Order: sequence, then C-alpha cells, then structure tokens
Amino acid sequence: MQANIVTLPGDYIGPEIIAQAVKVLQAVAVQYGHTFHFDERRLGGASIDEFGVPLTEETLAACNAADAVLMGSVGGPKWDGVEASRRPEKGLLALRKGMQVFANLRPCTIHPQLAGACPLRPDIISEPIDIMILRELTGDIYFGKRWRSEDRKAATDEMAYSEMEVERLARIGFEMAKKRRGKLCSVDKANVLECSRLWRETVAKVAKDYPEVEVSYMYVDNAAMQLILRPSQFDVMITGNLFGDILSDESAAIAGSLGMMPSASLGSGTRGLYEPIHGSAPDIAGRDIANPLGTILSGALLLRHSLGLEDEARAIERAVEQVLDEGYRTGDIFSEGCTRVGCTQMGDLVAARI
Ligand code: NAD
Repeated sequence: MQANIVTLPGDYIGPEIIAQAVKVLQAVAVQYGHTFHFDERRLGGASIDEFGVPLTEETLAACNAADAVLMGSVGGPKWDGVEASRRPEKGLLALRKGMQVFANLRPCTIHPQLAGACPLRPDIISEPIDIMILRELTGDIYFGKRWRSEDRKAATDEMAYSEMEVERLARIGFEMAKKRRGKLCSVDKANVLECSRLWRETVAKVAKDYPEVEVSYMYVDNAAMQLILRPSQFDVMITGNLFGDILSDESAAIAGSLGMMPSASLGSGTRGLYEPIHGSAPDIAGRDIANPLGTILSGALLLRHSLGLEDEARAIERAVEQVLDEGYRTGDIFSEGCTRVGCTQMGDLVAARI
C-alpha cells in the first residue's frame, strides 16, 4: 500500500521522538512491502519561529489531504511570552478542530515488564489491564457558552451535547468493542445532568445496532473509583470531553509511565491525528534521553486505525514488548538490572525487531 503521512515534530523533544517513530514505520514499510511518504511540517513553537503563527493554513491543508498525521509535542518556555491567541497550544487546538477529529482514543495497558511503575497493588493488576478510553473531543463544557458577571464574582460554563455528537462517538466505541472483547461501558452523570441523560438515551439507541456488544452504564464518580479498584473489568469506555479528560489522565497514571502512552484522535473517516500523551519535556530536550515508545506506539495506532494495517500495528507492539522483555529502558522507566539506552538507540532497537 502507499500512504501519505504528515509528520509534525513540534518542539523540544518532539523532533527526537518523531524521528524514532518514523524510523520504525519505515522498517514496517520495508518488511511488509508498503510505501510511506513522510511530509514534515511545522507546528507550535517551531511554526511560530518560522511563520509567526502556530499553525499555517498550508500545514492544515496538508494534514487534511494526508492519510494520517503523526505529531510529537508542542510548547515550552521559549514561547511563554507569546500572546495567548498565538501560543503553541493554540496550534494544536486549531489542528484538532480543523481536522474535525472528535474521538480521542487513549489505550491503557500495563506492560507486565513495567508493572513496578504501576501505583496499584499487585493483586489489583494480577489480571490483564487492557482498556480503551474513548473521549469525545469537540463538545461539552469546553466548547459551551461562558459567562462572567460584571463584578467578576460569579461565572457560568455551559455543558452542551447534541444527539448527533453522542451518536457518532458511540458508533466508534461499539465498532471498537466488536473488534476487542465485546464490552462497552458508557460513563456519564445521568443522575444529575440533562446532558448525561441525553448521552445515556443516545448510547442505548445505538446499542440496539450492536447486539453482540455487552453494554453497561456507570456514573463518572463510580467509574473513577472502579478504575482504581478493579481496572480489569473494563474493555472500551466511552465518555464526554470533561469526564474523559479526567478519566484518561487517571488511566495514564495507572499505566505508570507518561513516556509509554500513545493516543489517537479520529473523525468520521479514517484520517486521524496520532500523538504521545506527554508534552514537549523541555527539561530533557536535546540530550537524546527521551522515551520514544509512546510515539512509536502512536505509529502502531496510525497503522491500525488510519491505514487498516492490523498485522503491521501488532508487529510494532510486539517489537516494543520484545525490547522491554530484553531489559532495555530509557531513563524514565529504568530500574535496577536493566540496560539504560537513549532515545535514538531505543528507536533502533524497536526498528530492528520489526
Ligand atoms: P511534559 O509531559 O512535557 O513533562 C512532564 C515530565 O515528564 C517532565 O519531567 C518530562 O521530562 C517527563 N517526560 C515527558 N515526556 C517524556 C518522555 N517521552 N520521556 C521521558 N520523560 C518524559 O509536561 P510539562 O512539563 O507540564 O509541559 C511541557 C510543555 O509541553 C508545556 O509547554 C506544555 O504546555 C506542553 N504540553 C504539550 C502537550 C502536547 O503537545 N500535546 C501536552 C502536554 C503538555
């Protein structure tokens, strides 16, 4: 297959980690007979430095014409003084909006080799943890009307959802559950919020089209607790923007290591935006010590969800497991008895095992 992939390395460690993910994707292309064209563009601070804005129209157009977009991370102290409307993070928000990606996928798995980094008791993680949190990304209280009283002593943020917004996310969730372990848990606060009642009714309607998927509903406060008490009960979780923001970070803490976590943002077609969940880590940039595995695993999600290359995606995931089994670790996940490697070497090790 031929595919066009836009890469947006971004700032600080962004270029270091993206280079490793590209290397691994190139190894996949060679091994499986595909041709991937990489088109590198600027985003965030790098784009401000070159073009004066964090995202240019041209870059957005290139992203919307590509099969998939792979991003590093944006922002950092260099641009802290830039006015709010032109900050690096604005480029990322504009990119998500411009690409119309409304579903944010955050897998949460605990690599058995890194179980020591998980803050939960060993008996709680004795069963495999493999959760896919699907967070709605373009609606909810983050995009509702805001109000502040003239005396600045009262404020309102409006939570809003439409049936269409819930339904399109739910369908992605059910499709995903079908391909995984056939379970979907919808998280809301339907005992209090009208938006959540609409959410629950809509999910129940969509569920009728997926009789093979076992659906359950959970209030968000209970879900936050259950993620800690018995995370192995979850397969796919779907939820709104606000609840998903919190639960997906909670799940990242469970997995134990920021540098390991990939993410995908999808719209209604197959085009998607793929990025690690961490930021630009200015404190370790330029020293070749960043962990590139979250970005490399984002590459696996890209192959799976945008290019439909499941075997190739699994090959990346297996290669990462193998490198961890062999005891190689970047500094952030290093423990006694392991072999410490840098960012580039970690990329080489994974690529060589494809
Ligand atoms: P951060 O995620 O960049 O770093 C937090 C800590 O984790 C740091 O100690 C860092 O060294 C470490 N870390 C992060 N990624 C790592 C990796 N791959 N390997 C090893 N260690 C890693 O969060 P921060 O320090 O709060 O933010 C730094 C900048 O990144 C800010 O400008 C912030 O706005 C931006 N940011 C961007 C994104 C994004 O691009 N999606 C997300 C979060 C933060």
